[in-house]
Amino acid sequence: MCGITAISTKKEALPFLLQGLEKLEYRGYDSAGVTILSQNQLKTIKTKGRLKDLKEALSHQVLKGQVGIGHTRWATHGIPSNLNSHPHTNEDETISIVHNGIIENYRELKNFLLEKGYHFHSETDSEVVVHLLDYYYKGDILKALQIVLTKLVGSYALCVVTTNHPDEVVITKKDSPIVIGKSDSGTYGASDIPALLEYTKEVYFLNDHDIAVLHPDHVDFYDCDLKPIEKELVNIPYDHEAAQKDGYDTFMLKEIHEQPHVIKETLRGRISQDQVVLDELAEIDFSPFNKAYFVACGTAYHACLSGANIFERMTKIPVICQVASEFRYNDPAIDEHTLCLFVSQSGETADTLAALRLAKKQQATTIAVANVLGSTISREADYTIYTCAGPEIAVASTKAYTTQLVVLMLLGMYAAQRLDKKVDLYHDLIQNLMKLPELVENVLQDEPLFAIYAEYLKEAHDAYFIGRSLDYASVLEGALKLKEVSYVHADAYIAGELKHGPIALIEKGSVLFAVASQPHIAAKTISNIQETIARGANVILFTLKGMEINNAAETYILPDIHPLLQSIIVAIPLQLIAYYTACLKGCDVDKPRNLAKSVTVE
Ligand code: GLU
Repeated sequence: MCGITAISTKKEALPFLLQGLEKLEYRGYDSAGVTILSQNQLKTIKTKGRLKDLKEALSHQVLKGQVGIGHTRWATHGIPSNLNSHPHTNEDETISIVHNGIIENYRELKNFLLEKGYHFHSETDSEVVVHLLDYYYKGDILKALQIVLTKLVGSYALCVVTTNHPDEVVITKKDSPIVIGKSDSGTYGASDIPALLEYTKEVYFLNDHDIAVLHPDHVDFYDCDLKPIEKELVNIPYDHEAAQKDGYDTFMLKEIHEQPHVIKETLRGRISQDQVVLDELAEIDFSPFNKAYFVACGTAYHACLSGANIFERMTKIPVICQVASEFRYNDPAIDEHTLCLFVSQSGETADTLAALRLAKKQQATTIAVANVLGSTISREADYTIYTCAGPEIAVASTKAYTTQLVVLMLLGMYAAQRLDKKVDLYHDLIQNLMKLPELVENVLQDEPLFAIYAEYLKEAHDAYFIGRSLDYASVLEGALKLKEVSYVHADAYIAGELKHGPIALIEKGSVLFAVASQPHIAAKTISNIQETIARGANVILFTLKGMEINNAAETYILPDIHPLLQSIIVAIPLQLIAYYTACLKGCDVDKPRNLAKSVTVE
């Protein structure tokens, strides 16, 4: 996730590039840069930090020219730094590129280029693209690009400028967004429509593998065989605010819908032939660990509960899951045989950071799971695995949670693989993991149903959630999401515990969400549900085909997927129910009262 801008015009290029990057700031970034083609020379200015730092750097230069590309980077490979910032330029400074996405096979491509004598200036995956273009360039940049694209595995939105074609910007994409705009004064490219709106409302949409060539007065389009294609010019009726949300009413809804894509990004490059590949952890020896702690706060803690269950089942290493603000004061039993895992979307959560420091002091091996590259927790942990959720703007976490679940699933499998355990399960699990993005997409198609389920909460002050085992972690998160965004009081219980107390609360009209997705215990949860229906509860049941009951108020049949992956699926309806309840109650969904996105205080 990042921002890209590109322009070919008869006027000055820089103002468009900068205002566009500003409009894309909501996507999150850690560095920024531009290249302008000026008097047949490429001039690149880039810097770690905010756009104001880039503007400060630009204030010492005269950057005049009619063609240019701009980038705000959200680091995935290589820390945020001046050198890792985009654009990246070839050795003789004739080609410059910006890239959004991940080049999965960059190591292999880098080795190839190193052998050919190329030098690398950054740690990014993206830099291979500019050297490959240089290597294959034989007088026609489109032909060079066509060859390079056959070499790339991964996701990309790419913009290329070259002194050899001085009034053009060449643009292509695969699995990362870019739109093309056209006005009387120029043609434009940008990661998202808000960056264009001040200049034009007339846009073209690119499909994966399409190529666009910006000229000052028109855009040429080609397919991947370089055959010219026609594109329709579409008028955008949005205002700026709506455009940032991609047409969704809120960031939360947008982020819920991004989940198929970000789950795919998080899996990208981490599975190869029935094996999990987590090169980040290659140096860890898992055999000395006799226990593990999984530590986090809030939603990340719920991801840990699922992750710990899976890790212990797969590795047979006992896992204790603790909330960070408890762990740090509980004098935990840590030594050099303890593995400690810390999960935080921002990588800055104060309690989780303090817990990590404590574990390090006591000689544990520490792993961080974070979404923000270069964040404090990711820097201080011995090892870090990143989720690839992209920036999450809504305060209530959705896509960060499901990508944390994906990473923790991969971690459990990877550790077991390294310990030679349970690998017989892998073929099936890996096939199922690969199906996840599509299944999540299918569940999202049922959104209208979840809006109907939310109606049960329209007048309610309380809601109950029950589940067992992995489903318990899921319902804890479902209840938290509901509390956070709709302010409906919600509690989650282990289904088997109901009759030991909480069932006293159930009365006629109580609303109870039940998840029974684990085949070995679904029948037990169903019995507990019957006990609540007998006392007048309206039950909304999420279960497997064949487990339906005829007296639930609503039943949603979960897709057929490996039970260990159901938490990721179940998260979607529970997020949408919380979302639609908040809408019914007129709450500020993206900024719930009293909450902050990154909790950097104790
Ligand atoms: N993977 C690239 C990098 O880390 C691009 C990141 C982005 O999309 O901003 O530089």
